[in-house]
Amino acid sequence: MGKEEMVLFLSEKNRLQTFKKWIFSEEHSCNAAKMAEAGFIHIGSSKEPDLVKCFFCNKQLDGWEQDDNPWEEHVSHSSKCKFAMMRTPEGEMTLNQYLDLADSFGEKIITDIFDKKLETLDEIFKLAESKNSKH
Ligand SMILES: [Zn+2]
Repeated sequence: MGKEEMVLFLSEKNRLQTFKKWIFSEEHSCNAAKMAEAGFIHIGSSKEPDLVKCFFCNKQLDGWEQDDNPWEEHVSHSSKCKFAMMRTPEGEMTLNQYLDLADSFGEKIITDIFDKKLETLDEIFKLAESKNSKH
């Protein structure tokens, strides 16, 4: 997932768009709208039709039951996720909550980029080492 895509999924509406083929219908508590509300993006395939992941903490979950509460499952499997801890649907967030979330999300993206850079540096190091060992 690219950075631009990650930012898109900060929006509940955009997360909901990924749930077009969700396994449960509206009358169940584990419906598409509730899943998107609780921060999930549907990334399932025909092999794993109910695989989702959190846009914020990247936690992947499957094995959903129709009566599951998406917020509860999110918190119990990813207790440090800031989004899950807020437990507030986007429409009910205060401006401060939303800004706080966007802020942490921005930091998270920067950390991810930084980690990727470090990986690259590491690769450069390894490459340099392997070249040196040939001498
Ligand atoms: Zn999460």
